[in-house]
Amino acid sequence: MLKPRAGIQAVPAYHPPLAGRSGLRFDFNENTVGCSPRVLARLRELNAEDLARYPEREPVEVKLAKHFEITPQELLLTNAVDEAIHLLCQTYLAPGDEALIVVPTYSMYRIYMMAAGAEVVSVQAGQDFAFPVEQVRSRIASRTRMIAIANPNNPTGSVVAPDQLLAIARSAPSAAVLVDEAYFEFYGQTLYRSCRQLPNLFVARTFSKVYGLAGIRVGLLIGPADQMPTIRRVSSPYNVNAVALACLAEAIADQDYIEHYVKDVLDSRQRLEQMLREVGIPFWPSPANFVLMRIGPTKKEAAAFVEQMRRRGILVRDRSSDPGCEGCVRITLGPRAHADRLLAALNEVSEQLGLTQGARP
Ligand code: PMP
Repeated sequence: MLKPRAGIQAVPAYHPPLAGRSGLRFDFNENTVGCSPRVLARLRELNAEDLARYPEREPVEVKLAKHFEITPQELLLTNAVDEAIHLLCQTYLAPGDEALIVVPTYSMYRIYMMAAGAEVVSVQAGQDFAFPVEQVRSRIASRTRMIAIANPNNPTGSVVAPDQLLAIARSAPSAAVLVDEAYFEFYGQTLYRSCRQLPNLFVARTFSKVYGLAGIRVGLLIGPADQMPTIRRVSSPYNVNAVALACLAEAIADQDYIEHYVKDVLDSRQRLEQMLREVGIPFWPSPANFVLMRIGPTKKEAAAFVEQMRRRGILVRDRSSDPGCEGCVRITLGPRAHADRLLAALNEVSEQLGLTQGARP
């Protein structure tokens, strides 16, 4: 009988609750309104010839290298960050190696690490999901060949200071250290310029979040120039399709759109946090386009909340099954009109479920 490789059976399935996503999409940290109109205009210009040709990644990589003020040898365009994680795992992990993550975090790290045969060492985040720098450093061993850190982290919003990230990379010279900056634009701090100094540091960026392009799957891996040719060999030559490549150049060119969107989201986030304080729902302050909050002590309260929001046409994400997140829900922010709808529904649902009781005198 045909059997998958040893260890593959244990790889957990990723079950994003995507089916029938109608209504306001505050559940996947996407851009809630969509991409720049300039991207759509470019999309409409595409013709049969453009689709018939195999896509050329390199000219767009040159444009991106200019945008990031690095050389094209220091970056690789990928089929979004998921592929960047996958490529790092394929390049650096072998069966029996260890790979380190801090949980709760983005689920695909574990999945790709296990698929490469590695043993995943999970370090639980500290009080209030603080990044446990010392525990991470103490778990680094000679077998540690990869460390993945989302900064800011999803779903908690916690961040790690640049000097701590650099210290981790220095403590693990045999490991590829990935700093996943999927939410960079909302946060503003980046480590990619340090990839020149540290021979094992990689930074990933995505166009799925603020850029509103999750559907076309495009992202970026930046790393040490001497490592990137190996990763390039592991990637498929046409990993980023022609539509994505055409759109990406326009998306990058319209930085005004990004700046406005970020500003709107930060404003909405402040309004949501203010309301959570007033209602008395505990939450973890976030520098990204989402906020994690504790609706109640168990997954039952979180599920009831998600369902009530869904009935009002608003999708939010139940994070109860993440380690340490029992009873928690994550909500993605959008611009003002979306925040208005969110806050009105939140008000109603928190009254209905009695979430306000503890908070009001
Ligand atoms: N990294 C983090 C931290 C994320 O939250 C997500 C999306 N939820 C991803 C990566 C995946 O992004 P992409 O669409 O670029 O694969």
